[in-house]
Amino acid sequence: MDQRDTLEALQQQVVQRNPAEPEFHQAVAEVLDSLSPVIARHPEYKDAKLLERICEPERQIIFRVPWVDDSGTVQINRGFRVEFNSALGPYKGGLRFHPSVNLGVVKFLGFEQIFKNSLSGMPIGGGKGGSDFDPKGRSDNEIMRFCQSFMSELYRHIGEYTDVPAGDIGVGAREIGFLFGQYKRLTNRYESGVLTGKGLGWGGARVRKEATGYGAVYFVHEMLAARGDDLAGKEIVVSGSGNVAIYAIEKAQQMGGKVVACSDSGGFVYDPSGINVALLRQIKEEERGRISEYPDRRQNGADYVTDSSIWDVHCKVALPCATQNELTEKDAQTLIRNGVLAVAEGANMPCTPAAMKLFREAGTLFGPAKAANAGGVATSALEMQQNASRDSWSFGYSEQRLKDIMIEIHRSCFETAEEYGRPGDYVFGANTTGFCRVADAMLAFGVI
Ligand code: GLU
Repeated sequence: MDQRDTLEALQQQVVQRNPAEPEFHQAVAEVLDSLSPVIARHPEYKDAKLLERICEPERQIIFRVPWVDDSGTVQINRGFRVEFNSALGPYKGGLRFHPSVNLGVVKFLGFEQIFKNSLSGMPIGGGKGGSDFDPKGRSDNEIMRFCQSFMSELYRHIGEYTDVPAGDIGVGAREIGFLFGQYKRLTNRYESGVLTGKGLGWGGARVRKEATGYGAVYFVHEMLAARGDDLAGKEIVVSGSGNVAIYAIEKAQQMGGKVVACSDSGGFVYDPSGINVALLRQIKEEERGRISEYPDRRQNGADYVTDSSIWDVHCKVALPCATQNELTEKDAQTLIRNGVLAVAEGANMPCTPAAMKLFREAGTLFGPAKAANAGGVATSALEMQQNASRDSWSFGYSEQRLKDIMIEIHRSCFETAEEYGRPGDYVFGANTTGFCRVADAMLAFGVI
């Protein structure tokens, strides 16, 4: 069997062994698709069955999360933690609370996280967790009771040297607070390094909140700079309006770009004079509101649009920062027709495989999630460093560290792509670099 057949057979095996998990199949296919030149160069990876091993999580935990809502009704959710790979460090990755969460979604996210974390250059393995709990419309007390129940099972599986969860969709500083409080109470240990994304007053790191969005913009800047270009004066569209989107917008504006649209699950805001980040933060972070309120409060002719795609808005740079598979083949066609120069994935796997293929064929600069959004988890690793040394770094120093990490991620993807004769192919560069570091560590450990 040649490399392609081997990878094809493995893909089929993954589909068979993990039925009804389309997002996981998609994430695996995207990585395997890059790896035939690597396997050809490194027969030792194939002999040690490294690909087969990497596609199988080290441990998968599924648990019941019972809690009582404000009306006194008992609610049951399902909790997950997939501890995917610990070759490079303790399992590391966020928790997602969203009704769409199921085992396949957690596995896709955990699988991506292995390579992203490897690419970040930090000593962290890959994992992910979450629940099908829907925080929308829930009171603070309900969120607290849910988080306490969730942690009452999770606590026995995590630890600063074992598994270090953080936030993701539906999990921010408030939830991390409730989770940390319950962990501390159950273990009688103030183990700061067990969770990241903590509040600044109790072990959290400066720039963690901003890191994913800022990092994605640094990455786009590096891709443009490699072609002698920059963000100055460019129209930018950012989907989403959560943590990633807000700080991508902020950094893009600081770097001279003009962000004209952002969205939530109900629709998108088009603001031709540039999104007002302070107002967006007020609505989304302070009031936990919807962006449909933005135009009225902005009073400058901004529109709230529900009958078309945000990707119909003309832009030179597109940053999908909402959720998986949000940017389709049709959206990619529109963006390319409208002259998009660069796309960077702030969310995890936001572009469908067909959309990604079109961008790569069209020569659009394309920064895949594993590289472009690695700034968040990299800064989580910096939070772990600060916790381990009981230190707290300044905003400026932390931001510089993040910037250096993003520049280095860009450089390694760029150079790997060149080395294998695939110049400009960041998808190939990210998958290959991320994979080889994990594979080399696994080889060193023997068959475990
Ligand atoms: N949820 C984020 C991600 O997708 C961050 C995870 C972390 O900080 O551990 O990478």
